[in-house]
Amino acid sequence: AFDTLMIGGGPAGAAAAVYAARKGIRTGVAAERFGGQVLDTMGIENLISVPHTEGPKLAAALEEHVKEYEVDIMNLQRAVTLLPGQPGEEHEVRFASGASLKSKTLVLATGARWREMGVPGEAEYRNKGVAYCPHCDGPLFKGKRVAVIGGGNSGVEAAIDLAGIVGHVTLVEFMDEMRADAVLQKKLRSMPNVEIILGARTTEVNGDGTRVNGLTYEERTSGEIRRLELEGVFVQIGLVPNTEWLQDSPIELSERGEIVVDAHGMTSVPGIFAAGDVTTVPYKQIVIAMGEGSKAALGAFDYLIRQ
Ligand code: FAD
Repeated sequence: AFDTLMIGGGPAGAAAAVYAARKGIRTGVAAERFGGQVLDTMGIENLISVPHTEGPKLAAALEEHVKEYEVDIMNLQRAVTLLPGQPGEEHEVRFASGASLKSKTLVLATGARWREMGVPGEAEYRNKGVAYCPHCDGPLFKGKRVAVIGGGNSGVEAAIDLAGIVGHVTLVEFMDEMRADAVLQKKLRSMPNVEIILGARTTEVNGDGTRVNGLTYEERTSGEIRRLELEGVFVQIGLVPNTEWLQDSPIELSERGEIVVDAHGMTSVPGIFAAGDVTTVPYKQIVIAMGEGSKAALGAFDYLIRQ
């Protein structure tokens, strides 16, 4: 059995493993795909002190750093059930493979995934004009024309953010009105290089084979098909936390399905911690996930020495 076991091997899980192992406690990482979302990323330019890196390179570096220590890495293991122990007892995690692991403390770091539109061209042009993170990829579209899909808070925030960087932003919303807070909508409408299209169903991301060059949508009332000429599409229709496997556990989740944590990264169950995109902590970024993972591991160590 472990003293601390990380479920998830993205930036949060990897950072937690390094911090825990450096305390000399028995540490493990079980992950479906070590590296996490970083594996799907091209250029990364906001990991402080690393001006430029690439996803696969960073993922390899994460693993290399964890392997500097005595950490059991169990890759290709998808957790399906959490069985929390009574206070002072071990917690158990069961995996799709049939395996089961026990640990005195856990750090849940299963991350999140962007909701996709599921239209032709979206997957094909991912990282070739189709983007999901304005903080990450906004500067790549400096002076260009982009669309933001989605008129909720994240879509309107993204459009406001991008309008300051890119040449022109078209916000495309499926419904006849935006759901974002009124103050955000007002701010967006005041910006000179922004157009808002309501009641529009995106039907395709167009491209020339190598890069995005347009977006096709249907005007829902008239049924008319229209096309926008542009270089980028930011999809902002939701970030889904990977907590389906915790639905029947006693871990408290927010309305959006995120794990609720306190200032030490502890969940509603003593001894079970969580970190990164899977939690209620705002702003889903690599540097934040690393910080939160480190914090959760220190929280777990603190918990252990008090047992
Ligand atoms: P994740 O990276 O999501 O890792 C989750 C881990 O948990 C993975 O190992 C996964 O396999 C595992 N897992 C999931 N479910 C289970 C389960 N049931 N059982 C076991 N393991 C499980 N951020 C930046 O700061 N800069 C950028 O430039 C940037 N660009 C991005 C580009 C793209 C295309 C995407 C998708 C994201 C980008 N981000 C960027 C966001 C950043 O990748 C995330 O904030 C960060 O990876 C979160 O780390 P995490 O460890 O919390 O979760």
